Amino acid sequence: MAQARTYAGSCQCGAVRFTARTALEAPFMCNCSRCRRLNAVMASVPDADFTLESGAEALATYRFNSHRIAHQFCTTCGIQPFASGTDAKGNGLHVINVNCLEDPHYDADAITRFNGADF
Ligand SMILES: [Zn+2]
Repeated sequence: MAQARTYAGSCQCGAVRFTARTALEAPFMCNCSRCRRLNAVMASVPDADFTLESGAEALATYRFNSHRIAHQFCTTCGIQPFASGTDAKGNGLHVINVNCLEDPHYDADAITRFNGADF
């Protein structure tokens, strides 16, 4: 079982920086109209394991469909480092863009496909 560790992540220009504690055990991709364009590999972390280190003022939020997920992107470089929302039980979580992490360690074969297109 992979060990949880704290990863640092950022947008491309570095205005937005965050840390997330995760083992990256359940990376996923999604086929919804947004994620397939981003081609992002993502991982969910509870709010308690996510810290926005800097760049709150640089972020803009985009919502679509049910508007339940706040897709947050850097207004300078346009990269979406994470989104935020709640799970089925109403607990706050962040969905991080694994490709925005510095040196992420995960098993590419473990990537699951989320059918967000039919969500
Ligand atoms: Zn940026």
